[in-house]
Amino acid sequence: MTSSSDLPTPGHPSDAWVHCACGERHWGTHGAAGLLLTDGGRVVLQHRAAWSHHGDTWGVPGGALLPGEGAPAGALREAREEAGIDAGAVRLLATSVLQHPDWSYTTLLATAGAPVRPRATDPESVEVAWVACDDVAGLPLHPGFGLAWPQLRDMLVRRPLLVVDAANVVGSVPDGWWRDRRAATARLRDGLADALADGLDADLLGLPGQRWWPDVVLVVEGAARGVPAPDERTRPWRAGSLTVVSAAGSGDDAVVRVVEEALSVSVAGSGDAVEEALSASAARSGDADDAAPVGAARRPADVTVATADRGLLARLPPGVGTASPRAVRGLGRPA
Ligand SMILES: [Zn+2]
Repeated sequence: MTSSSDLPTPGHPSDAWVHCACGERHWGTHGAAGLLLTDGGRVVLQHRAAWSHHGDTWGVPGGALLPGEGAPAGALREAREEAGIDAGAVRLLATSVLQHPDWSYTTLLATAGAPVRPRATDPESVEVAWVACDDVAGLPLHPGFGLAWPQLRDMLVRRPLLVVDAANVVGSVPDGWWRDRRAATARLRDGLADALADGLDADLLGLPGQRWWPDVVLVVEGAARGVPAPDERTRPWRAGSLTVVSAAGSGDDAVVRVVEEALSVSVAGSGDAVEEALSASAARSGDADDAAPVGAARRPADVTVATADRGLLARLPPGVGTASPRAVRGLGRPA
């Protein structure tokens, strides 16, 4: 465990206080991270032991990051140590970072993809429980979590989708792509798949917070049709899906159809239903024009289309965001 009592017994070098230029002290010389897990209407909260820093309050399971450990990995490790939450049962959604002069705290937002029965599994927790989102603000909250909760709650209900107009994005940089459109499209696909390991910048998707793991639909057309879904990446966690849709005819028509279906089709259940629907769609992505994915209905603000095609932009439903083709094209590649 990474304890945060007033008289800690350091287990490793990062288990120590940071005396921050903000005037406070914070736990974890490499920063700290915690997991905010939702099943839709509830979140997992930890009732912290009285002896801990800001004791006898409710917050998220979390603690000091290890040297070299990324925030998502650290948050999931702490959630397992303190709350018995199996990383295999969660699907990453986003991160939100509280940045101090000399320290930072990353909240990892995630959805439960399988039944999770959290429990207090170390002395820092008095209790770990599912709490209805509506009841959270009424609890004595850890001050940092209490300040962040309104925005975190808003982020928890977002279901980001990035739809990529592959022909337009591939064509945004004159690097010889025209010699082999299919290979250039496969490189774009692989860059997207690699980038999804660490999540995409919130700015790219027009969303709050720092990083997001959206579902991604790559719409391919013409010579790039039939580009397969990417090879399965080995990941320590589950995150957004990457689906390839081959347009039978116009790529623009297919992009519009994917967006309209995302906004209208409703599938009951959790994010898992979305994932399964998108996977099913990926499996038939070599087929023609009915290959658009289905999923839970999303809000227009959760959908982003990567294209600079003015004709296509004019056809998108109101409220749908757009992303720069060059920014999307650079994903997963060395700068
Ligand atoms: Zn500080």
